[in-house]
Amino acid sequence: MKPLSFDLDLDKHLNATLVVACTACGHEMRRHLKSTAPDTVLRCDCGHEATMTTHHLLAAQRRLASIKSAYQVAA
Ligand SMILES: [Zn+2]
Repeated sequence: MKPLSFDLDLDKHLNATLVVACTACGHEMRRHLKSTAPDTVLRCDCGHEATMTTHHLLAAQRRLASIKSAYQVAA
């Protein structure tokens, strides 16, 4: 399996949106982190599928925690 690359987008309430880049066409798929369960399959417009595994979600949550603590330091 190709490594999944993803980013987090935070709104002003610090709600995180997962931004997953399709490994086939580069199109971005967006999904709320809170409503993403382990092994959720994201389907791109091009038909390519990416799976958010537990590993990815834990990495996303760790990243979110560090972003939040950075916000608190800044505030
Ligand atoms: Zn695609």
